[in-house]
Amino acid sequence: MSDCIFCKIVAGQLPSSKVYEDDELLVFHDIHPFARVHLLIIPKVHIVSLAECTPEHERLLGRIMLLAPRLAREHGLDSGFKTLVNTGRGGGQEVFHLHVHVFGGGDPAARV
Ligand code: AMP
Ligand code: ZN
Repeated sequence: MSDCIFCKIVAGQLPSSKVYEDDELLVFHDIHPFARVHLLIIPKVHIVSLAECTPEHERLLGRIMLLAPRLAREHGLDSGFKTLVNTGRGGGQEVFHLHVHVFGGGDPAARV
């Protein structure tokens, strides 16, 4: 998707502070963190949102979810972390390329 900022990050056309990469996934720091640690896990392939996922994405989604606790641990979130997937305009999604927010180190009682 030529006008998708996360696809541009994947392609190296936009900078990001990358913390993890493999053949299918990319993880970088959110540019406007709402906690001490705030990471975004994205698939390299362009998927608009969770609502566009199909059974063929099952393994990819599983990999994303299993990566979250590993990266949280590596970033010192030993006592826990939050995950968030905004889906669609009504769900507060602003970047229409699937991403999972992983964050923590702020107020544990905060809703986001
Ligand atoms: P969402 O509301 O779930 O679509 O959130 C999109 C997130 O992407 C927001 O938290 C933004 O701060 C973050 N974001 C937007 N552009 C960039 C970028 N170029 N690099 C890192 N994070 C970004
Ligand atoms: Zn994209």
